[in-house]
Amino acid sequence: MVSKNEVRIEELLSRGPDITDGPGIVYAFVIVGGTSRDNALMVKVGATKDWKRRMREWKNQCKGEEHVWLVGIESKYRFLTESCAHIMLENRALERPVVTCEYCGRKHMEKFVMKVKDRFASNVERELIQVIEEAKRRVNTYFGV
Ligand SMILES: [Zn+2]
Repeated sequence: MVSKNEVRIEELLSRGPDITDGPGIVYAFVIVGGTSRDNALMVKVGATKDWKRRMREWKNQCKGEEHVWLVGIESKYRFLTESCAHIMLENRALERPVVTCEYCGRKHMEKFVMKVKDRFASNVERELIQVIEEAKRRVNTYFGV
């Protein structure tokens, strides 16, 4: 029995990278106070060509929101890897809420609420690294790069 999300990953990979895709960084950060749930953190996973610039952009876009940057993993197809990671994260996250951002007014679709399993929340960072690395491996294997 193949899971629904596995089918979505297969569909994503079979569509292939679009023309804007290419090498870059798939990153993750915590949105401090992003969820009111106990023992949970809200995280965002995104992709960029220029990580430093993207960090500044996020700071300016959602002014007042505090971000703790966790990881940035290089990938040959950053957007495919990002989308693949988003699907995988749905299996692990408590929720994938679509909320209108009180700071920039946009609907951020790529935020996930993750369960915190120890007092340092180290599982969240570990899980994000695991998921992004796994997504990257899937993409690289599929396209033989
Ligand atoms: Zn925002």
